[in-house]
Amino acid sequence: MGCEPTRTPPADQVDIAALRRRYAAERDKRLNSEGEAQYVRVSGDFNDLYVSDPHLPVVPRLPVHEELDVAVLGAGFGGILASYYLTKAGIGSFRNIDHAGDFGGVWYWNRYPGVQCDNDSYCYLPLLEETGFMPSKKFADGAEIYGYCKVIADRFGLTERALFHTLITSIKWEESDQRWLIETNRGDRIRARFVIMAAGVLNMPKLPGIHGIDSFKGKMFHTARWDYDYTGGAPGNPALDKLGDKTVAIVGTGATAIQAIPHLARHAKLLYVIQRTPSTVDERPNPPTDDGWAKVLQPGWQAERRANFHRAAMEFFAPGEPDLICDIWTEISRNLAAELAAEGWPALTPEEFMARRERVDFQVMERLRGRVEELVDDPADVEALKPWYRYQCKRPLSSDDFYPVFNRDNVELIDVSTTKGVERMTEHGFVAGGKEYPIDCMVLASGFEVTSDLERRWGIGAVQGRDGKSIYDHWRNGPKTLHGVMTHGFPNMFFIGYIQGGLMASVTEQFGRQGEHAAYIIAETMMRGAKAVEPSQAAQDEYVKTFQELEIDQSAFQRECTPSYFTNEGVVKAPWALFRQWGPGWDAFMKMLADWRDKGDMAGMEITS
Ligand code: NDP
Repeated sequence: MGCEPTRTPPADQVDIAALRRRYAAERDKRLNSEGEAQYVRVSGDFNDLYVSDPHLPVVPRLPVHEELDVAVLGAGFGGILASYYLTKAGIGSFRNIDHAGDFGGVWYWNRYPGVQCDNDSYCYLPLLEETGFMPSKKFADGAEIYGYCKVIADRFGLTERALFHTLITSIKWEESDQRWLIETNRGDRIRARFVIMAAGVLNMPKLPGIHGIDSFKGKMFHTARWDYDYTGGAPGNPALDKLGDKTVAIVGTGATAIQAIPHLARHAKLLYVIQRTPSTVDERPNPPTDDGWAKVLQPGWQAERRANFHRAAMEFFAPGEPDLICDIWTEISRNLAAELAAEGWPALTPEEFMARRERVDFQVMERLRGRVEELVDDPADVEALKPWYRYQCKRPLSSDDFYPVFNRDNVELIDVSTTKGVERMTEHGFVAGGKEYPIDCMVLASGFEVTSDLERRWGIGAVQGRDGKSIYDHWRNGPKTLHGVMTHGFPNMFFIGYIQGGLMASVTEQFGRQGEHAAYIIAETMMRGAKAVEPSQAAQDEYVKTFQELEIDQSAFQRECTPSYFTNEGVVKAPWALFRQWGPGWDAFMKMLADWRDKGDMAGMEITS
């Protein structure tokens, strides 16, 4: 298997110097000195955008007062995989706790019309070999993934233990009984020996801090809380039949927006698409799963496929290695590998290799800008929709339906790039270019809090370790951990996420391995009859120092990028920068953890009996 390189404009027709100048100008136009502060925290009037659940009714229940071994905070893929590894480690006393009404995490909340995975499903959906499940197509629909989360939960006995529609309000370490006390908005008091924080990366809606947003009197909702009562239709049935007499605006043209926009365009009387920075939007062939292919897959195929994806997206193919993924995520590596193969794999210095890679990047971006010209009629829209930055400054997207939307009479593209976003909102609508646009409904496809302060993202009032120390203060300037999963002063607490560890292109693989490591430490601690485990200060200091020494400095690349949550809104070396990683790479990180576990001595941990 494998695929051919794409046809991009030839290198000698790409004026790299001119493109560099254009990229820099576009970045400067978009840089916002406010950084993360340009977004409004979900609270007060906006609290409903996070707390309320449009999908399932909240059923009254009695408060839970109990003791258990492990509380897993979150029931998305991070929490599900942590629990899966707990069961594998023989631990039976645990619960997933989530403020959603079911398993699924982002796939529970995000049911907007058109929601679909835009990564290769055969990589993204975890435990396919363990469950025997096979996605129905390359880019699975959101409903299928949500359903699959429940399949895993049922298969591995997580369902009956879970506590849903439960928002954690505080987590405090109680030295007297060496347990965490977890309190919730349902009056629960749960005393857990261990806590796994699997809150997710895209859990907290991010609201654009548009001046006057709270004065708008029309309907407004975030895509992660789609209001089908208002729009008509239902999850999986995007017939938005109540919008026929409505003027709708959508803020954003990111991964979410480009999936929802074709449906809004089809049904709204008039749709304004408010764009600040254009995305790269490639074609999206989405074939059904080939049964013949699926039948002959050999054990270990998913790990192999994920490793192939990781090399293509974040490292590079080995000579002769086929591209198993064959989509936008792997195009640059695929094209470059084809060039190098044709040249007999010349020996290149790292600088030469990176220069070649950058040139292919320019060619691929030219190809993607060419798509806009092919598919959009209006010359002004064509110019506004062309992305001017390096691939991977923003999340690469694919859709066959997005660009043609702008050829419809009822769709208007509102370019707000020069004003760094929507100028302001009024009682009746929004203002752009000095003109007020009256609307009935504003849909916020404005993304999620990914790199803002931890407190803002977790939304948990207090998380206090030893001596009442707040984790928010402890990590004010970024995380300090051992192996990215534990921190000194917060015994028996584990973290799943993008926190000072290895980085893997397949996020569910990364979270799963963190869960596996946490489950090992918990099982080992319990087996020793110990009460508490935490990294020693010395071991943590040593790990943090090594992490920083080995880290590959990406600031030059990031400095040149148009801002996004991929690049911390333009703040280089931000404390919670997303893609900080163990420098020697994912495989080296995995080996280090496996070796550490194999030795069995819990080196660097302080264990309290
Ligand atoms: P993004 O953060 O990617 O996009 C937010 C959009 O809102 C951007 O276009 C942004 O513009 C725009 N925006 C924010 N504030 C303003 C403002 N004040 N004025 C105008 N525009 C504004 O969020 P998404 O929800 O689209 O995607 C988030 C992530 O969710 C994805 O990157 C992906 O990881 C995940 N996702 C995954 C999917 C999957 O299939 N696996 C599908 C959908 C989402 P600007 O670019 O200028 O900041």
